[in-house]
Amino acid sequence: MTADRPQVVMASANPDKVAEIALLMQDVVDIAPRPPEIPDVVEDADTLEGNARLKAKAIADATGMPAIADDTGLEIDHLDGAPGVYTARFAGEGATYADNVAKTLEVLDGVAMQGRTARFRTVALLRHPNGEELVCHGVVEGHIALEPSGDGGFGYDPIFIPVDGPGGTFAEMDPEAKHAISHRGRAFRALKDAL
Ligand code: IMP
Repeated sequence: MTADRPQVVMASANPDKVAEIALLMQDVVDIAPRPPEIPDVVEDADTLEGNARLKAKAIADATGMPAIADDTGLEIDHLDGAPGVYTARFAGEGATYADNVAKTLEVLDGVAMQGRTARFRTVALLRHPNGEELVCHGVVEGHIALEPSGDGGFGYDPIFIPVDGPGGTFAEMDPEAKHAISHRGRAFRALKDAL
């Protein structure tokens, strides 16, 4: 810990997201890991912001320290914006990344590239124990690929082709290249600027 950087506690439990957030925020805050004894938060809000708030509030209340949370959704235009807030469990409760990728390809089977438009949306939320908050948003537009490609990243990265990228999926890009244009990169850079 350094004296000149505020300490915050991570409210997200997903280790893949935590690694990305730590990289994005490391030069402005010291991030303590989510205390393992705090029970998982039921993410039952109907918006990304609501779920980010539930996670951050639980950790800020339990620790008495500011907490940062991320909630992310994938919006597929062919599905009228689904899975959105249900992105983590698109293929059902307890779905793995592979299950969700398979389900996405299944529901878009037969849909041509121009009909496979989608976006990732992230809400980055910093909440203080007194209830004060900073809320920032990040979006990246893209297409759902016809098949998985690449082994980097996590989640839906092997099937998400960002429009601002070099043409491949997020999983084919190195982490810095992903963060430069990603939903999470954009949301947490906005949070950094607001701090
Ligand atoms: P939540 O924000 O924890 O509800 O996560 C939503 C789900 O979105 C995760 O389980 C991942 O499958 C997926 N996800 C979140 N961020 C990313 C990303 O950067 N790339 C690909 N998939 C992601």
